[in-house]
Amino acid sequence: MRSVYLDYSATTPVKNQVLAEMLPYFNEKFGNPSSLYGLAFTSKDGITLARARVAHLIGALDTEVYFTSGGTEADNWAVIGAARAKKEKGNHIITSKIEHHALLHSCEFLEKEGFEVTYLDVDEKGAVSVADLEKAIRKETILVSIMLANNEVGTIQPIKEIAAITKARGILLHSDAVQALGNVPIDVNELGVDMLSLSSHKIYGPKGIGALYIRKGVMISNILFGGGQESKKRAGTENLPGIIGFGKAAELAEQNLAEHIETLTTLRNYFIGQIKEKIDGVTLNGDPDKRLPGNANLTFDYVEGEAVLLYLDIKGISISTGSACSSASFSPSHVLTAMGIPIEKVYSSLRFTIGDFTTKEDLDYVVETLVEVIAKYRALSPFGKENQMKSAQSCACQGYECTGCDCVKKG
Ligand SMILES: *Cc1c(COP(=O)(O)O)cnc(C)c1O
Repeated sequence: MRSVYLDYSATTPVKNQVLAEMLPYFNEKFGNPSSLYGLAFTSKDGITLARARVAHLIGALDTEVYFTSGGTEADNWAVIGAARAKKEKGNHIITSKIEHHALLHSCEFLEKEGFEVTYLDVDEKGAVSVADLEKAIRKETILVSIMLANNEVGTIQPIKEIAAITKARGILLHSDAVQALGNVPIDVNELGVDMLSLSSHKIYGPKGIGALYIRKGVMISNILFGGGQESKKRAGTENLPGIIGFGKAAELAEQNLAEHIETLTTLRNYFIGQIKEKIDGVTLNGDPDKRLPGNANLTFDYVEGEAVLLYLDIKGISISTGSACSSASFSPSHVLTAMGIPIEKVYSSLRFTIGDFTTKEDLDYVVETLVEVIAKYRALSPFGKENQMKSAQSCACQGYECTGCDCVKKG
């Protein structure tokens, strides 16, 4: 059976060139970068090169990139570290309702520490309004954190416009760029951000490694305490193979960026076009243009997304409903909900994310399978178009139980 992975926003496979560069750092070049002998210097050199590669991908100085255990730690550090460092100045933070939980839960934690947080609404395309943001600013506002691109619907946010406002008011601006990295051109100076969160495993690097960009001169508090690693800002012996892998993945992402964007956009548009042509009652969620190249978040009316996901899994296809986090629980996606999508449509939404190893043939197989499963589940659904009239009639049958499409004798 064919196996098709369409969940690149959840994670990506490590590319062979990335793995090849990492391997020697597990055994041959295993020295602790903080030690004072040749073996250690080899490790230190490896980290220096990796840092330069990550910095180059986002147009930063090498000294502005601090490695973390991933995007989650970068988000936690940025908002908690900035809030604590600026608390003499004010206690108000502005973010949006569609941020990743790494950001939202950090903000909720800060609320317990006495900070006040404004969670901005988004429009029906999943975009934050710059005017709303400006209105939300108070004299106590110390930090604004808005993601560069959303992980569920792929909407790209107006960070540059937001930066113009925060800069003029002396407010720190953080952006979670985990999904945008390697998928959109990023230049920290052009964007005007003070902090940017990055993660390796979303760009074909290993898991458990990421980075926080902190603009030169911006002071935030540490959240980890111990040794003097990462210029005394992030304690803990470095994840050496992880850092090496992240560096290589960043280099490849930079080399392939233009081609990657073009290929994925073409494939994704083809995929959406085929689905809309072959299945009715389908809506694309998010912004049709300002969106991540690989993202197709679609609502299939009258079917239960979770059921479709399980069926596709049996057919060798891996996708997501709403987000990876909401797949494990039955709580509806906070992103789709914030966009004003009615609850029944939220439960009928599926996220397909395309990546570097996706082929047109893979997509044809997925479309073909979707045609099959959507027809099958709509036929069973009491809300399916064909069944609506039938059920209206059958529900009138007294003494019989209504199954949605038929009346059966009770008992
Ligand atoms: C994946 C993701 C994170 C978390 O990154 P990890 O490296 O998995 O901790 C944070 N923000 C966004 C937008 C993400 O997609």
